[in-house]
Amino acid sequence: MLPAVAADAMEPESDDTIVAACMQRLRTVFPEATRAIATVVTRWRSDCFSQGAYSYIPVGSSGTAYDDAAEPVDGRLFFAGEYTSRKHPTTAGGAYLSGLHAASELIRQYEETRQASANRASENVHRLRRKRRCQAIQLLEALS
Ligand SMILES: Cc1cc2nc3c(=O)[nH]c(=O)nc-3n(C[C@H](O)[C@H](O)[C@H](O)COP(=O)(O)OP(=O)(O)OC[C@H]3O[C@@H](n4cnc5c(N)ncnc54)[C@H](O)[C@@H]3O)c2cc1C
Repeated sequence: MLPAVAADAMEPESDDTIVAACMQRLRTVFPEATRAIATVVTRWRSDCFSQGAYSYIPVGSSGTAYDDAAEPVDGRLFFAGEYTSRKHPTTAGGAYLSGLHAASELIRQYEETRQASANRASENVHRLRRKRRCQAIQLLEALS
């Protein structure tokens, strides 16, 4: 894995050059690693939708960028992923925790909406009962 400046420098290079550079580095740790059986070279930086393998805070920005990315839309659209985790960005753990957080937010939002709708329904029943009681009293008064 080539991070940051190294990734910027290597992405324009050919697959062969990149693999050769990686193998050379690998051999400093495992001298017996002479030949790769299979290789895959990714270029996430050049992918216009990804622009990198995982999130980072650009110079001049702050951690609030993660909070902004995690902000739900209209209480209906929720976001999860490492890029929404201010405490543990760029990690599998952060992605997992953000999923739990988004799910619990979704449940809380659903419960709130359900409760508000139940309250409205119960208010309507009370209003109807009051109206019926008034009508009954008016009828009794008219009859007496
Ligand atoms: C080389 C490398 C090594 C790493 N090593 C570690 C490590 O040792 N420890 C660690 O904690 N983290 C590590 N990470 C980071 C970790 O892998 C990520 O932070 C984590 O996987 C992010 O999870 P995620 O769910 O946010 O995103 P992802 O795992 O990227 O999941 C996003 C998913 O959305 C899918 N998707 C994208 N666009 C669409 C679309 N339009 N429609 C439908 N699906 C779509 C993708 O195919 C993907 O499956 C590493 C990352 C890399 C690249």
